[in-house]
Amino acid sequence: MARFIFVTGGVVSSLGKGLSSASLAYLLQSRGYKVRLRKLDPYLNVDPGTMSPFQHGEVFVTDDGAETDLDLGHYERFSQVSAKKSDNITTGKIYNDVLKKERKGGYLGKTVQVIPHITDRIKEFIKNDSSKEDFIICEIGGIVGDIESLPFVEAIRQFANDIGKKNALFIHLTLVPYLKSSDEIKTKPTQHSVKELRSIGIQPDIIICRSDRSIPLEHRKKISLFCNVHINNVIETVDVKTIYEAPISFFKEKLDKRVLDYFKLRPKKSVSLTPWKKITKIILNTKKQVNIAIIGKYVDLKDAYKSLDEALTHGGFDNKVKVNLVRIDSEQLKISEIKSKLKNISGILIPGGFGKRGTKGKIEAIKFARKNNIPFLGICYGMQMAIIEFARNQLNLKRATSSEFDKKGLPVIGLINEWNKDGKIIKGTDKNLGGTMRLGSYDAKLKDHSLIKSIYSKSLIKERHRHRYEVNINFREKFEKKGLIFSGLSPDGKLPEIIELNNHPWFIGVQFHPEFKSRPLSPHPLFSSFIKAAKNHR
Ligand code: GLN
Repeated sequence: MARFIFVTGGVVSSLGKGLSSASLAYLLQSRGYKVRLRKLDPYLNVDPGTMSPFQHGEVFVTDDGAETDLDLGHYERFSQVSAKKSDNITTGKIYNDVLKKERKGGYLGKTVQVIPHITDRIKEFIKNDSSKEDFIICEIGGIVGDIESLPFVEAIRQFANDIGKKNALFIHLTLVPYLKSSDEIKTKPTQHSVKELRSIGIQPDIIICRSDRSIPLEHRKKISLFCNVHINNVIETVDVKTIYEAPISFFKEKLDKRVLDYFKLRPKKSVSLTPWKKITKIILNTKKQVNIAIIGKYVDLKDAYKSLDEALTHGGFDNKVKVNLVRIDSEQLKISEIKSKLKNISGILIPGGFGKRGTKGKIEAIKFARKNNIPFLGICYGMQMAIIEFARNQLNLKRATSSEFDKKGLPVIGLINEWNKDGKIIKGTDKNLGGTMRLGSYDAKLKDHSLIKSIYSKSLIKERHRHRYEVNINFREKFEKKGLIFSGLSPDGKLPEIIELNNHPWFIGVQFHPEFKSRPLSPHPLFSSFIKAAKNHR
């Protein structure tokens, strides 16, 4: 049976529960154990698929087509284990399941209540598909004391009781602030947060204290005493310069050792930190830099393109350069300013997106990249915009557009009504917006002698998708005659997956999201190649 590690947060949000969980996963894996990571989100949306990136950051897509919290991206990048649908649950999904069952009479006339019906459903989810793992690390979103997260906290308390405390470990992550005015480190917020946790029946076994400076022993002792946690298990996590240092820093603090000691397990292997040290060195010490422009709608929120930012950075690791991400708001990008704004840029990237706003700026930037031989990567919506730009300016189809935002023009991009998945036809259109896109991993066949095939070095690839619209295959001949090649197609030959330009050093558009599969220890070949082209550009 798997052992369960529950990670809660206290005092404030954004302390890095996701990163701490992901780093712990890496360390336990290095010790020779099998680990899965899960996230319990307290909001009422059934999944984050319909939430704006401004609100919630990026939506992370799994191979099996779930639209999940961006923390699952961290998990994958650090643990290298691909997440599944069953690894992210929200309050909305839990209630949805319970209410559906109630309508069907599944509760046999009983009064349906938070305890036990909601908590039972949460517990089922925690346990689901866990038998092959040594550890399940389960992160609870939000902070302890929020009304919203109460059912989850109650469920994990019951769960530990059900499986026996020796099989369940509670980690609580809190803030230990430094007050400049009094030149003091304060442990009180941590004490209060643990008190809150204990009031609902959970005694943490390990406390991770986030701080901007090392916490002196006397303060750790105080936390140990007041929070009833052994001094060895009061662990500090001091702000790191880059997230890739996190596994190194948790190893120094012996987090993995404390966890294994708790479960009375021995390490099967010694931990290798060399890859993390290597990339940390590149990030912190490399002088050579390239500027990559990301031109999109959601540039104001740091996490809106999280996986993309990561994948570009990983591409830099492979080329030993530091990648500077220059975010440009496509809505504000005026045609007259394009030249000056893109002056020091070595690569232009148009990310995924939805709706009409900002399309003009994107299309102009693509034209600029195409005409000036600047490396260009268009992802999903970015590829669709590249098709529209080429159709309007090279094929002279001035009315070329996407039916997503213009129903009257010439739809070079149109709605997909159905598609093929593993031999089955899937219908795309539906009245609901949530969960009705072409989602998850699909195959693409790559064309011989194409740039894309030389990048992947294989003919069949699997990448993750999240879209409703598609390049209209009927225009293929027209495009190819003018040098825009459809260099990757779905195996049935109906859906264009990749486009590239013949007379350009590096111009690629992909209908999928390669960024979801890039990992720091194994950067995605498409991003490595893009950064290499950018590095060679000037
Ligand atoms: N809005 C476009 C579509 O639905 C592109 C989506 C995306 O970029 N993820 O097809």
